[in-house]
Amino acid sequence: MPTTLSEKAKKVKNSSTLAITAKAKALRAEGKDVVSFGAGEPDFPTPENICEAAHRAIDAGMTRYTPASGTTELKEAISRKFREFNHLEYKPSQIVISNGGKHSLTNVFEAILNPGDEVIIPAPFWLSYPEIVRLADGVPVEVTCRKENGYKLTAEELEAAVTPRTKALILNTPNNPTGAVYSAEELKALGDMAVKHDFFVVSDEMYENLFYAEGQHVSIGSLSPEIFAHTITVSGVSKSYAMTGWRIGYTGSSQEIASLMGSIQSHQASNPCSISQAAAVEALNGPQDTVKAMNEAFKQRRQYIYSRVNAMPLLSAVEPQGAFYLFVDCSEVVGKTYQGKEIGSGADVAAILIEDYQVAVVPCTDFGFPNHLRLSYAISQEEIAKGLDRIESFLKTL
Ligand code: GLU
Repeated sequence: MPTTLSEKAKKVKNSSTLAITAKAKALRAEGKDVVSFGAGEPDFPTPENICEAAHRAIDAGMTRYTPASGTTELKEAISRKFREFNHLEYKPSQIVISNGGKHSLTNVFEAILNPGDEVIIPAPFWLSYPEIVRLADGVPVEVTCRKENGYKLTAEELEAAVTPRTKALILNTPNNPTGAVYSAEELKALGDMAVKHDFFVVSDEMYENLFYAEGQHVSIGSLSPEIFAHTITVSGVSKSYAMTGWRIGYTGSSQEIASLMGSIQSHQASNPCSISQAAAVEALNGPQDTVKAMNEAFKQRRQYIYSRVNAMPLLSAVEPQGAFYLFVDCSEVVGKTYQGKEIGSGADVAAILIEDYQVAVVPCTDFGFPNHLRLSYAISQEEIAKGLDRIESFLKTL
């Protein structure tokens, strides 16, 4: 067997959000009572009308290849949703449907990057962004955002990071892991910068329906025709409709970029699952009351988890305005002694919590913020309460 394997592949880190969730599941299988604040995955079942649409698709024999970039029916549903919800005009031919948000992002960077092109990623960030950029031969450029600004990137911070190699900025609102949402003014300032320095905004709006702030979700591409021309909008059905396992993500972009992504996908994956596409049509076109109900539940859990964590000694968090994550600053825990050993990082805190307290949390080293933890509150209120009680018991030992 040849001994040299891909240097690029060897540099890819395994996804720790998925690894932590797998670990929590494995411990549960051993009979341990684990509370998992791990992967961001709604605990609700996929709504019944969506599952029924999938059954109907199977019965109707929709089990064959579809066009590589997705069915016309789903592209039309997405185009309408973009117009009515996001105030973005993408024709169906400008939409590419893929196997989840990660696949959409992979297509985007493969379509726009040349080796050495830089992509600005505001930190904290979702851990897959830098890996996806590197896999597409790009160079991730992390810009650390300030807690005092709710961990949001400002136009000044953005401009300071721009170089002649800047090809794109990744923007994620509502944000994973912080729950921050950007206002129209903040987005306009960032979008104007993209126009001024002529780079793309890759706008990840996967959490667009999980919004608890005043007003409503704003898509950066809706703020001016020039910003729209520089924006590639990414979303999907996973989080909004509790459809994480169905793997449907999509993009809206210029016709040219959509064609490039369609060609890439035609060789790498053919089409996304035909049954999942039929289900996604129902998700977007069918009744939206379950989205509202899930949103309401997440909103209540958010208030509970936010107030309880902030009342704990040594921990603090900024109030999330969207998504379903609480981003917890544990830097005051770092340096304390636990069972005779110094706690050296947020990763140590996460390791203690899972090993000794059966609580899975995501350490944010891979999110660009080492002494922080991410707690997903997409689990029941009872589980949240139990997990927080255990975290509190741990803190009392310090
Ligand atoms: N996006 C979710 C999360 O951040 C699911 C896991 C993953 O894809 O990383 O937890």
